[in-house]
Amino acid sequence: MKTESLLTQTKRILRRFDLKSRKRLGQHFLVDEEVLQLIAASAELDPSDTIVEIGPGLGILTGELARRAGLVIAVELDDKLAASLTKTLASFSNINIINQDILRLDPAALLPAPGPYKVVANLPYYITSPVLRHFLEATVKPKRMVVMVQKEVAEAITAGPGQRSMISLSVQFYGKPKIVSYVPARAFYPAPEVNSALLRIEVYPRPLIAVTDDKGFFQLVRSGFTASRKQIANSLAQGLGRPKVEVLALLEKAGIVPQRRAETLTFEEWAQLWQVFTRRKEEK
Ligand code: SAM
Repeated sequence: MKTESLLTQTKRILRRFDLKSRKRLGQHFLVDEEVLQLIAASAELDPSDTIVEIGPGLGILTGELARRAGLVIAVELDDKLAASLTKTLASFSNINIINQDILRLDPAALLPAPGPYKVVANLPYYITSPVLRHFLEATVKPKRMVVMVQKEVAEAITAGPGQRSMISLSVQFYGKPKIVSYVPARAFYPAPEVNSALLRIEVYPRPLIAVTDDKGFFQLVRSGFTASRKQIANSLAQGLGRPKVEVLALLEKAGIVPQRRAETLTFEEWAQLWQVFTRRKEEK
């Protein structure tokens, strides 16, 4: 017997519950069987795993994850989708559906017991950066994230020295990102206007460099990118709202040539600058 294609299955569930894809919520459902298997395989699941899935949608990926993992906690914002999921996934005893905005939930509070977990999701693209930050900056971080994102965002996140931006620094500070595969728009229904990429982030047990105040550190980095592609001295002066002479003195102490651009600084150089910057505040 030929099994139903994911596209047919998707259209059937939409009809059954009288649902329409809501673009505003980034609803583009995965209809490619190979990509579905690739997502699940990249997460390397076994029955000891707890998974947090963001935006289960019609539940097709959710079911695949539940077949391989111990527990799937699936957080869906759309009320109608969440209600339909309780019916379509009723045969699974290891799926917990939560009808909420993922950004309003503390990841630690989602877990039934403290312990390791993985995040797997075909993300709603309009909240990609906030979702990544939400999990990577959380007190209880996942050990791995396997997420579908827009192709250009995946490339920006994995960029190396010389091409780094706020998003690559803020992800690479917490983990090692890698593009698993590019995914064409036709793998989704309805097809989005952009192409996608599957991204896997191995989260470090501790951030790449030791800073006592992550938030403050990233405020400084963000200031460095205020006028991106400009010399770091000008960009920092503008971003921090400090006189240029003061910024030049800080850069000299940190051993950073003021003509450099923020994109070219290494993590170690940002850490050095942060040390000089905090010491200056303590001296005041
Ligand atoms: N997982 C399904 C799949 O692969 O076909 C659906 C993926 S679709 C790209 C994104 C899903 O995220 C949608 O179901 C959407 O309703 C949901 N979503 C959007 N914003 C959300 C939020 N803030 N919190 C939780 N879910 C959200």
